Amino acid sequence: MSILLTHAYVVTVDTERRVIPDGWILIEGNLITGIGSCATDPLPTASEVIDLKGMLAMPGLINGHNHHWGSLFKNTGEGLLLEDWLDQVTIPLLMTLTNEDLRIAAYLGAIEQIKTGTTCSLNHLVNVNDDASLAAIIEPAVEVGVRQVVGKEMRHTPSPPFSTKYPAFPNSRSLEDEVAYADEVVGRWDGHAGRIHMGLAIETGANWMLHNATSDELIIEGVRLAQKRGLKITNHCAAGTPWLSVREFEAMTGGGDVDYLVRLGALTNNWTLAHSLHLKGREIDAVARAGATVITNPVSNAYSCDGIAPVKEMLKAGIVIGLGTDGTYVNCSPDMVEQMKFAVLIQNLTHLDPTLMTCEMAIEMATIGSATALGIDHLVGSLEVGKRADIAVFDLDTAHSTVANRQIAALVFSAHGTDVDTVLIDGQIRLRGGELVGFESEKAVFAEATERATAAIDRAGLTSRVFQHWRPRA
Ligand SMILES: [Zn+2]
Repeated sequence: MSILLTHAYVVTVDTERRVIPDGWILIEGNLITGIGSCATDPLPTASEVIDLKGMLAMPGLINGHNHHWGSLFKNTGEGLLLEDWLDQVTIPLLMTLTNEDLRIAAYLGAIEQIKTGTTCSLNHLVNVNDDASLAAIIEPAVEVGVRQVVGKEMRHTPSPPFSTKYPAFPNSRSLEDEVAYADEVVGRWDGHAGRIHMGLAIETGANWMLHNATSDELIIEGVRLAQKRGLKITNHCAAGTPWLSVREFEAMTGGGDVDYLVRLGALTNNWTLAHSLHLKGREIDAVARAGATVITNPVSNAYSCDGIAPVKEMLKAGIVIGLGTDGTYVNCSPDMVEQMKFAVLIQNLTHLDPTLMTCEMAIEMATIGSATALGIDHLVGSLEVGKRADIAVFDLDTAHSTVANRQIAALVFSAHGTDVDTVLIDGQIRLRGGELVGFESEKAVFAEATERATAAIDRAGLTSRVFQHWRPRA
């Protein structure tokens, strides 16, 4: 089976950042086997030819930080600082979820991704710690067809507790058993269906340390496991309200989240640090020296008002930065096109400099940047011969993107993720004409997701949060 995409505005994001205005892409099996210009290169033959005139073809967008269970709870966290949101909304919801809730959230998360041009995302797990719940989140992703990096969470309650002010996260295993279990499930699921890539999620941030969700020993042993298996470890890093958890943690430890990792001797190139908002200069230098990477989530950070990432300083230090949405419970949209626009605008506004971040830089972050941060840049993140055929095609022949005479800017600043027309993942067409291919139950997923989310919100005692209108002004 071979597919030839023709007459697209091809944005490769390869090492030379080639753009081919009237280009073709040949896909054979799950690989890209040719890229050329319709104007100057002979067209190869293929069993299927798809004409993409008026469209932009690019590497599928890669969401570097997401929690798919959050897809059920969009618009439940409005008006709360991160610490209040965590204690009042997230943890109560987390504790009430069943495996069937996780399963329907995984279907919804996969569908919303493909329908906004995202071919791969990191699913940072927070409450999936047995075989049945892991299957509940991975199997739907495989069925709908997305690529997924699964950040398998590891938990260990510190003894004595890091803080007695907050309740501990439930954890039923000893440190030794937790490490052995993570080792076993990573081996079992890594490479599944050619589209599941395993990693670890070990919390190191102030909020999570204060909640006793993690321990020094776990962080050290987790790094050992990641080094043994060549895995990435993701976390939540330097996120939180400066005068709340960030200050509390600093008062207890004498430094920030990255300082803490450095002191443990645990800051390695395995880390994919999500957020990284409040890093001091010495912490940025340490991240760069270690070869760790960062995922910036500007809309999520704006939603909970915890800060603006020092992207300018991190790029200057040579840190690779990818782009993410965070869970859609703290963003409300999985749309990576929206994230790209916001990433540019918030950085330029912060520095009052319209030249600081460009739409091209945003595309790099959302493709090859995220791929590198997640350790899958040898497979995806750019359109290059030999890489997996994960491709998103956006329709720019729309009222809101016309006149698209600067196509890359039109994509980032005028278009929406829902303008995606065609998506290929691992060489398979998963979306065509904006409609899912090979998955028929989309509307049934929406109905069950609504039903299950409503019930979970009720069980968590949060119904009043979703029925308030015109909240009283502060
Ligand atoms: Zn997160």
